[in-house]
Amino acid sequence: MEAGEDCCVKVAVHVRPLINDEKLQGCKDCVTVVSGKPQVQIGAHSFTFDHVYGSNGSPSSAMFDECVASLVGGLFQGYNATVLAYGQTGSGKTYTMGTGSKDYYQTGIVPQVMSALFSKIETLKHQIEFQLHVSFIEILKEEVRDLLDPSSMNKSDTTNGHAGKVTIPGKPPIQIREASNGVITLAGSTEVSVATLKEMSACLEQGSLSRATGSTNMNNQSSRSHAIFTITLEQMRKPNSPSENGLNDTMNEEYLCAKLHLVDLAGSERAKRTGSDGLRFKEGIHINKGLLALGNVISALGDEKKRKEGVHVPYRDSKLTRLLQVNRDPMSSEMLKMRQQLEYLQAELCTRSGGSSEEVQ
Ligand code: ADP
Ligand code: MG
Repeated sequence: MEAGEDCCVKVAVHVRPLINDEKLQGCKDCVTVVSGKPQVQIGAHSFTFDHVYGSNGSPSSAMFDECVASLVGGLFQGYNATVLAYGQTGSGKTYTMGTGSKDYYQTGIVPQVMSALFSKIETLKHQIEFQLHVSFIEILKEEVRDLLDPSSMNKSDTTNGHAGKVTIPGKPPIQIREASNGVITLAGSTEVSVATLKEMSACLEQGSLSRATGSTNMNNQSSRSHAIFTITLEQMRKPNSPSENGLNDTMNEEYLCAKLHLVDLAGSERAKRTGSDGLRFKEGIHINKGLLALGNVISALGDEKKRKEGVHVPYRDSKLTRLLQVNRDPMSSEMLKMRQQLEYLQAELCTRSGGSSEEVQ
């Protein structure tokens, strides 16, 4: 990338301080943040990123302001976005995202996203009608589980010795589907409609509690699943609301819908380093499948040249990437209307000819 060139994938590093256990064991910091540069130094090697946040100094709000606030702003213009926390178990992913215990809620990215979202809604609510939905799922062993499902419960799963969310027998598994307009939906997962910050925070809290955790040799509370908290923002311009004169320059369309995925990924360590075997090893392979596919998707998206050439993005290689796939351009209301009319016409033609809708071209 040339300096100043904009890219749709940005990488920020958050270096956590040593925790007490590590200090007691005599561990020493081996990562130095290069002052004044988005760079870290490990031994003789330096690595440059879009942003670097050291263990002391940068308050967590700086990370939110510089890396995530613009994505929240983009939601109001119909842009989808994804924030991923990647790193090995114990590196601070859950802390950084704020999807763990209540102690993390003050400083985490997700709680800050929620506050920013509702502050902005407050300023626009006279002109625009908002609808917000939240879903919270996890992917474990390539299976999607609903963390907000009120009918499921948490109990100890004695078969593999970890506390986990147990799916109620007979409940159909959640399926990832692609609608005709290219929008990815999760059939069978709970979408909670929320109107206030308190309601949205309750969803985060409930889902975080439900999240399956397992023990590995590295960290007995580490999660081997990917957790995805998704906020869907729908906006409808209120009748007679001014659309020009700067009063409502946020929204140029009558209707907009966009999603923000906030992802706390499973640990990036390799299965053999966690001393896993048997079932755990199988989980390790699945986790790596998701992370491997994610790496390939990010490489394809991050290469502007390849993107312009329309290179294939391998979203379908794992559940994780399939779920995070979004239609690139927010569909305008005009296009949506045209598509609905077309679908209506197709259904009408199909009824008259007595065939199935697939037969109509
Ligand atoms: P991961 O989710 O990557 O496995 P955690 O978020 O659970 O890791 O963090 C591991 C430990 O490090 C936790 O005890 C957490 O409180 C602590 N920790 C992580 N990041 C920070 C930070 N920036 N400042 C202070 N403590 C942190
Ligand atoms: Mg974690």
